[in-house]
Amino acid sequence: MIIRNKFRNNLFIYYSSIFVLFTVLILNYLYKREKEFRISTLNDELENTSKIVDNYIKTNSITEKGNYLLIDSLVKLFPQDSLRITVVNPEGVVIFDSFVPDWGKMQNHKNRPEIEESLYSDFGTSIRKSATTGKEYYYFSKYFGNYYIRAAVVYDLKVVNFLKAKKYFIILIIISFLLIWLILLFVTNKLSESIIRLKDFALKIGNNEPFDFNQRFPKNELGTISEELIEIYKNLLKTKNDLVNEREKLFSHLNALNEGIAFFSKDKVKILSNNNFIHYMNMISGELSVSGANFFKIEDFKKINEFIDKQLQSEINSNQLPKFEYLLGKNGKFYRAQCVIFHDKNFEVILSDITEMEQNRLIKQQMTSNIAHELKTPVSSVKGYLETLINDPTMSTDKQKYFIEKALAQSERLTNLINDIAIINRIEESGNSFTVEKVAIREIINDVTNNFKSAIEARKMNVETENIDNAVVTGNRSLILSIFQNLLENAVNYAGDKTIIRIMLYNEDESFCHFSFSDNGIGIAEEHLPRVFERFYRIDSGRSRKSGGTGLGLAIVKHAVLIHKGEISVRNRTGGGVEFLFSLPK
Ligand code: ADP
Repeated sequence: MIIRNKFRNNLFIYYSSIFVLFTVLILNYLYKREKEFRISTLNDELENTSKIVDNYIKTNSITEKGNYLLIDSLVKLFPQDSLRITVVNPEGVVIFDSFVPDWGKMQNHKNRPEIEESLYSDFGTSIRKSATTGKEYYYFSKYFGNYYIRAAVVYDLKVVNFLKAKKYFIILIIISFLLIWLILLFVTNKLSESIIRLKDFALKIGNNEPFDFNQRFPKNELGTISEELIEIYKNLLKTKNDLVNEREKLFSHLNALNEGIAFFSKDKVKILSNNNFIHYMNMISGELSVSGANFFKIEDFKKINEFIDKQLQSEINSNQLPKFEYLLGKNGKFYRAQCVIFHDKNFEVILSDITEMEQNRLIKQQMTSNIAHELKTPVSSVKGYLETLINDPTMSTDKQKYFIEKALAQSERLTNLINDIAIINRIEESGNSFTVEKVAIREIINDVTNNFKSAIEARKMNVETENIDNAVVTGNRSLILSIFQNLLENAVNYAGDKTIIRIMLYNEDESFCHFSFSDNGIGIAEEHLPRVFERFYRIDSGRSRKSGGTGLGLAIVKHAVLIHKGEISVRNRTGGGVEFLFSLPK
């Protein structure tokens, strides 16, 4: 409402000022015209009057007789009120005045402007206040050779009088003013509707209040502009919301990352960072800071700081963004610090915990050298046997057979070794992606005992099972087979003759089957127990090799159990022999 009034008030003020100015100009023009007309009429009138007076003087030979008083009777005959006739001789001496009886005492009139003017022109005029009557007079003077005749009348062309005269004209102007105002009111009503709504829109948006975006505006130019404006605002709002959503997504994405990441402006002010960035920064620096802004004060990041300083001073190549990375070791953990400078010289810093990667790399390195070492013995043995065979062609058939069998045994060892390495690799590489099925443990045990049937019999060993028949686990069949096969193979190889192997499902809970795999053989000395699951760890390497062991058997068993999310432990039984306790998922 306020806006409507304000808008109208302003419009009214502008409009009235223009109208008043326009009216004043017209009246002024009319007044001038009126004045000019009045003066020319007065001049005609007074010229006639002065000519009549001249004729009267001449006809009545007044100059000769000197009886100027006679003119008074003529003056009375003129229709104008307060007509004043003055006769002045060429020297300026007043020789008659119809208003002043003792004109002889009057000042010299030679310098009166109208008298002076009439000497050189047809006539002279002047408007001024009469000292005698106090009224404003219009003086007209004409020179007739012997005298000047001056006729004067009250000059009553006052503005007030003029305005009074133009009363109807002014009323007409006021009426047309009101009429135009009414029309304007109607037009502004239409226009202000859009303006008011637009203002309402602006105020509500400014104050974050709800606004009905679907309302229609009047069908005129302003309405269309308003609707367009609102449409533009709607688009802007949508873009803004989209941007906020994208930013949210980016934030959640950044926080879900394993890496610590932070963005900085070119003056090293933090723009944003994720939680891991602060976490890694604190882990590395050993301090407790909650702000990424302290990054540049930390000694461990000096290298990055120097790199950034250098890059900020040089030009950025548009094709290749400057990058820098290095590794940091701190408290047994390894980190990678990376930095990328962008075109606008803002930059990002990424901190990643690569401890596991680094440890895996070390394990792999160790594994590779172990493998090489393990392969070397059988390979050089096979080579040795074959060389002996080739170098001694006279060798007896029995001896030849002996060497060939030796070479075969070594190559079998090689095959075992390569198979075991392949299994370990497969477990490590497949991660959780190996195929899973229901596996009946009874079938597995039957398979593996069959495989070692002759060795078991040769050693007069016995395999006993307990509670196994209905045991079903969920897992990868070939890995589960590896578990039982390796354990059985070890028992057969190390437990000793006439021993008993016991395989038992001793417990079942909601998710796991708990197995015990034991023998009553020689057992494992306590100091070796904690290490038997290590790769290539053997207690009696000569014996292990002789029995075809690779030192990887228990490592495979442990890996296979762990990858099924189970647990495994080993202990010596009180009555002698070893017992492996492990769980597999149901
Ligand atoms: P290997 O290929 O040498 O058998 P494993 O990793 O399977 O390697 O076993 C590691 C070592 O643990 C073996 O060398 C062996 O000395 C010992 N061991 C494993 N099982 C038994 C067992 N049932 N009785 C006695 N010692 C065993």
